Amino acid sequence: MRAQPTASHYINGQYRENAEGAVFTSIYPATGETIAELHIASVELIDETMQAASKGQKIWAAMAPVERGRVLQRAAALLRERNRELSELETLDTGKPLQETLIADAASGADCLEYFGGIAASVTGEHIDLGGGTFAYTRREALGVCVGIGAWNYPIQIACWKAAPALACGNAMVFKPSEVTPLSALKLAEIFTEAGLPDGVFDVLQGNGPVGAGLTAHPLTAKVSLTGSVPTGKRVAALAGEHLKKVTLELGGKSPLIIFNDANVENAVSAAINANFYSTGQICSNGTRVFVQKGIKDAFLERLKERTEAGSIIGDPMDESVNVGPLVSEPQLEKVLGYMALGQEEGARLVFGGNPTSVAALPDGYFVEPTVFAEVKDDMRIAREEIFGPVMCVLDFDTEEEVLARANDTDFGLAAGVFTRDLQRGHRVAAGLEAGTCWINTYNLTPIEMPFGGHKSSGIGRENGHAALEHYSQVKSVYVEMGDVEAAF
Ligand code: NDP
Repeated sequence: MRAQPTASHYINGQYRENAEGAVFTSIYPATGETIAELHIASVELIDETMQAASKGQKIWAAMAPVERGRVLQRAAALLRERNRELSELETLDTGKPLQETLIADAASGADCLEYFGGIAASVTGEHIDLGGGTFAYTRREALGVCVGIGAWNYPIQIACWKAAPALACGNAMVFKPSEVTPLSALKLAEIFTEAGLPDGVFDVLQGNGPVGAGLTAHPLTAKVSLTGSVPTGKRVAALAGEHLKKVTLELGGKSPLIIFNDANVENAVSAAINANFYSTGQICSNGTRVFVQKGIKDAFLERLKERTEAGSIIGDPMDESVNVGPLVSEPQLEKVLGYMALGQEEGARLVFGGNPTSVAALPDGYFVEPTVFAEVKDDMRIAREEIFGPVMCVLDFDTEEEVLARANDTDFGLAAGVFTRDLQRGHRVAAGLEAGTCWINTYNLTPIEMPFGGHKSSGIGRENGHAALEHYSQVKSVYVEMGDVEAAF
């Protein structure tokens, strides 16, 4: 098997197998071939890992923050050095084109480690003057052992986005990748050890939902950070609530991308392509409800069709000229094809795509055509439910007031975009959108410096930026009396 790791898990600074655990496989989505076989962690292994993480965390938290930062920065440099090897592994595990993984996965992880490595020494408290020389100060302290649970679309990026701020604040992290994409987190763990991270501070445990639940409920868990779907988010939040664990939830979306008549059509089309077809549409923040003002609609659809027909190259994801890879798995393929059929049943107009497709030499890959539906109505299921595939819904609108109300008419609130040349309108619409991230005249850019997370059902808490530090640390207030202590008697 071409991507078999040394062992299934990485615990306390080394690989670890548990041959008695149930077997699961990792599949290369372009061929359907099994590339690795791993074992699900047992309850005993979860406990052993949590104990190791707890021990490691105390050593790590006692180190000078500036030294912790250096370890993260060394790990960032190693990720960059090994970017090609890591990207090839990520492409095998996810099916995403190498053209993408070379720039968006380990590289984004490295950016994140570098950023949080740089600010680790700046995580400080405050001084509060209480008069008469007496004062209080606050310490920003680690939480302890944090659990990270990942989705399958950006495996190493998600692991880094969670680990970097957690570790910068002096926590340990036990990470459970999605069982669909288990491989790259193990490489990250190797890199951390090589960069000088004390044993146990970053561990990887493989498994399915019950392993995630076991980690969430474990007595040594201080916090859980999940990237996944809304239903899983509700389950994790409920369990975390029962055990009073802190939570960050990065969940799904059905985000609006609003294009006004005065927009630059080519840029708007570029953004709509990025917001729907990059990573074969498997991105949480995708702008899948594209609201186009009636005056620009024909020009928009015409250029979208021309550019997709001329420019999309569906094929072997290892070929660097390919820009549309397969979907991640057979269940995901079935789900997306189901929505493509549903759109037609619901009466939306199929502009292009709508079918599975095959690639020469890769007949068993999970490939579909990039798809656009126009004249989509707000109440259609294709416009309300997260599809997580390359299916764009184009909806018409007349006025700003109308489109804002319709864009916000969803339980999701992860992201949104607006295209206009009118400066005031751009900011007014961004302010009115109920979403954690809004882009004006671009879409789906997520620099590490910018907080990322959801409003409404799309999440709780933030990743990236200074905001992430708040979610991986806690404040301790220390009151310092400089005078005498008064008492009633
Ligand atoms: P899932 O919600 O199915 O799974 C997410 C993770 O949670 C997996 O590791 C899964 O394990 C685990 N899990 C499942 N059940 C439980 C449970 N009861 N307790 C603890 N952990 C559990 O999401 P997908 O992996 O299918 O990813 C797609 C979803 O992720 C989409 O909805 C997408 O929008 C969202 N997403 C959100 C992002 C964001 O930042 N907001 C970014 C990327 C994706 P396993 O699957 O191994 O069984």
